[in-house]
Amino acid sequence: MDRDTICVQGGYTPGNGEPRQIPIVQSTTFKYNTSEDMGKLFDLEASGYFYSRLQNPTCDYVAKKICELEGGTAAMLTSSGQAANFFALFNICENGDHIVSSSTIYGGTYNLISVTMAKMGISATFVDPLCSEEELAAAFRPNTKAVFGETIANPALTVLDIEKFAKAAHEHGVPLIVDNTFPTPINCRPFEWGADIVTHSTTKYMDGHGAQVGGAIVDSGKFDWMAHKEKFPGLCTPDESYHGITYAEKFGQGGAFITKATSQLMRDFGSTPSPQNAFILNLGLESLHVRMKRHSDNGLAVARFLEKHPKVEYVNYCGLESSPFYEIGQKYLPNGSCGVVSFGLKGGRDAAGIFMKSLRLAAIETHVADARTCCLNPASSTHRQMNDQELEAAGVPAGLVRMSCGLESAEDLIADIAQALDKI
Ligand SMILES: *Cc1c(COP(=O)(O)O)cnc(C)c1O
Repeated sequence: MDRDTICVQGGYTPGNGEPRQIPIVQSTTFKYNTSEDMGKLFDLEASGYFYSRLQNPTCDYVAKKICELEGGTAAMLTSSGQAANFFALFNICENGDHIVSSSTIYGGTYNLISVTMAKMGISATFVDPLCSEEELAAAFRPNTKAVFGETIANPALTVLDIEKFAKAAHEHGVPLIVDNTFPTPINCRPFEWGADIVTHSTTKYMDGHGAQVGGAIVDSGKFDWMAHKEKFPGLCTPDESYHGITYAEKFGQGGAFITKATSQLMRDFGSTPSPQNAFILNLGLESLHVRMKRHSDNGLAVARFLEKHPKVEYVNYCGLESSPFYEIGQKYLPNGSCGVVSFGLKGGRDAAGIFMKSLRLAAIETHVADARTCCLNPASSTHRQMNDQELEAAGVPAGLVRMSCGLESAEDLIADIAQALDKI
């Protein structure tokens, strides 16, 4: 089926007389007639539900839809995008292991990898997404277990050369994990370019209405864990906490990764989405294909307007011919990228402050990818602890404004931006 149809009808097919909309199974637990029946579930001998920390039918319908959209073999929801990225990495990395990551990634993920996972004994090397193949190869170590990047980075808006990163990962016998939050599978499907695992913050466009925080992990089923057995003992040797099951043997290439992340990491960390949130997320997914087109069109229209304005110093948006990411954007995102545009004003931080408080439609928020346009000056909010030099090095100069174009009319958004620029 086409992605547009999957958005509307994927993941759940009601039987005769069953609810047309996905049911919210608001139950922590599930009833069985015999202990033997339940024992089979605990042994992973039969599939079914027993406790909503591990799996819940509502969440599974929505995970299945996201799995179909990405073209994967298995998927799971998590309680946030942070949990999705942590689980995706920690499912295959343990104390003593190493990660290669693009340097332009979401700040929360950067902290997760560089600070919190470092405390767990997992080290990382960050590489410029525009690095050469040689520079990328030089970042690998014998203990490297995964490569990580974002299709379109938040907030740097760099575009990942997925084929280049996948090739390097596979030459070193490890999977490429891609956070596909900004383009969503409507504008890019990383599996088609060689990525092995995809993650999402469903809080963003997938929900699209700023109504729930959530995440998702999807497996392409293409990575052959058993061919690199020595690197991935968690998947390829018996799990003593599950009566000696070897995930890669029992669930195969298509199912091992998600089964392990569910039955081990979700069991132990409990980053479980609520069925209510999964239901709300599904309402967003039903119109994702319609909304992404408008977000991308509005992003491009705003970027083009800003680029020509005399008070604007630079604009980051891969849909602009002047962008260093234009060509790579045309390759991976031919139908549009997303609604997030970042730009710098000639008057720097002070001008950004005047501009933002003069906006009427765009609200100042720590959020992106919402139906309502919002904006943020990272230097005075999320990156407040950094001085101007540190901000420059992190790719978020003091005067940078991140604007997430919503679903309003492009004319109204541009008129609002124009009047706010006049106030500087
Ligand atoms: C927001 C975001 C995250 C974190 O997601 P939460 O749902 O806020 O936990 C991860 N990656 C990217 C690209 C994001 O934009």
